[in-house]
Amino acid sequence: MTVATELRADVAVVGAGIVGLAFAWAAARRGRSVVLFDRTPTPQGASVRNFGMIWPIGQPPGESYERALRSRARWLELKDKAGVWAEECGSLHAVYRADEDAVLREFAELAPGLGVRCEYLTAADALGRFPALNPRELMGALHSPTELAVNPPAAVARLQHFLAEAHGVQLRLGVAVTGIEMPRVRTASGETWRADRAFVCSGTDFETLFPAEFTAAGIRRCKLQMMRTGPQPGGWRVGAHLAGGLTLCHYTSFEVCRTLPTVKARVAATMPDYVKYGIHVMASQNDRGEVVIGDSHEYDADMSPFDKPEIDALILDYLREMLDIPDPRIAARWHGVYAKHPTKAFVTAEPQPGCVIAVAPSSTGMTMSFGIADDWWEANP
Ligand SMILES: Cc1cc2nc3c(=O)[nH]c(=O)nc-3n(C[C@H](O)[C@H](O)[C@H](O)COP(=O)(O)OP(=O)(O)OC[C@H]3O[C@@H](n4cnc5c(N)ncnc54)[C@H](O)[C@@H]3O)c2cc1C
Repeated sequence: MTVATELRADVAVVGAGIVGLAFAWAAARRGRSVVLFDRTPTPQGASVRNFGMIWPIGQPPGESYERALRSRARWLELKDKAGVWAEECGSLHAVYRADEDAVLREFAELAPGLGVRCEYLTAADALGRFPALNPRELMGALHSPTELAVNPPAAVARLQHFLAEAHGVQLRLGVAVTGIEMPRVRTASGETWRADRAFVCSGTDFETLFPAEFTAAGIRRCKLQMMRTGPQPGGWRVGAHLAGGLTLCHYTSFEVCRTLPTVKARVAATMPDYVKYGIHVMASQNDRGEVVIGDSHEYDADMSPFDKPEIDALILDYLREMLDIPDPRIAARWHGVYAKHPTKAFVTAEPQPGCVIAVAPSSTGMTMSFGIADDWWEANP
C-alpha cells in the first residue's frame, strides 16, 4: 500500500486574489515558507475585474486613511521590485452642481485638520490642469495626489509570479482547497498539506470552506457592471482617476461634511434610476490608454448572471457630463462581484486555531489589502 506524502509549508493561503497575495507576501517577507492555492489557473476574481484604483481619498480620515497610504507604499515597492505598472496619477472629483461643489469646498477646508492631502480647484484651475475635463457647467473639483493606477489583470498575474520568483512561494494554481482541519489543508487534486497557519482568502466563495462562519458573519454579495474603451488615440490621457458628484454619496470619507445630506436628498429625489441600481460613476485609465468605466451595485437576489444594458447607458450618460472621450466606443463589458459587510470594512474570523478567514473589504480591496495584511502580521507575529 502506498501512503500519500504530506506536503509541508509554514503558511497555506487559499485564494490568489489581492487579499491572498497580500497575506502571502507579508508572510514570505517574515521568512515563512508559503503555499498559495487558487482554484483557477489564471486570476478570474474581483481582483482582476476592478478599476485598478488605489484610492486612499475614499477612506475615512484617520486610521483607515493611514492604512490606505501604507498599502499605497507597498504598491510602489512592487513597482520597483516586481515591475508592476503603478502610476502616481492622483484623483479628481469633478462636480457640475452647486450642492456638490459645497461639499468639495467644505471637505477641502476640513482636510488639513483631518490629515488628508487634497485641494479644492476652481473650474478654471481644474480645466487648466486637466484639459480632458468637460468644461460645460463645471463648478469645481477636488484634487488628491495620493491615488495610484494599476492594471489589475496584469498586476495580479505578475504578483503571483513575483512571490514565487522572489520569495519561493509555492504556487498551486488550478487547485481548489476542499477542506481544512488544522494543521491539515486538503485539495481537490488529492494533496494534503501540513501548515502552522492557514488563511482563507476566498473572496465571494462562501460555500466551500466554513460556510457556517460566512453566514454568521453577515456578508453579502454585490455585483458591479463595468466597461472599458479601447486605447485612446494620440496618447490622450484623462490625467487622474476621475469621480463625480454621485461618488460623494458613496465613499464614507465625505460623511464628515455637513453639506452632504443636501446632495443625498437631491439625488434621492431626482435620480431614481441611479439610486435603484446603486450607480456612481468613475473612470480610470490604464497603461494601454484604455478608459475603465463603472459602476453599479446590485445585491444578492437582484444579482443576475445577465447584465443590464440600461445600467451601462446610465453610467455612460453621466460620464459624458464629465468627460468627452475621443474614442468612446466600448471595447469590453463585464461585471465583478465582491463581498460586502453592512458595517465592517474588513472581516476576519478564526474558525479553528491557526486558521483565519480574511474577507475582502468590499470596494476597497486593491486599496487596503496590503495594509490590512501587514497590520495583521504585526499584531500576530
Ligand atoms: C467591479 C469592481 C470594481 C472594483 N474597483 C476597485 C478599485 O478600483 N479599487 C479597490 O481598491 N477595490 C476595488 N474593488 C474591490 C476589490 O476588487 C476587491 O475588494 C478585491 O479584489 C477582493 O479580493 P479577494 O482576493 O478577496 O477576492 P478575489 O479576487 O475574488 O479572489 C478570491 C480568489 O479565491 C479563489 N478561491 C475561492 N475559493 C477557493 C478554494 N476553495 N480553493 C482555491 N481557491 C479558491 C478564487 O478562485 C479567487 O481567485 C472593485 C471590485 C469590483 C468587483
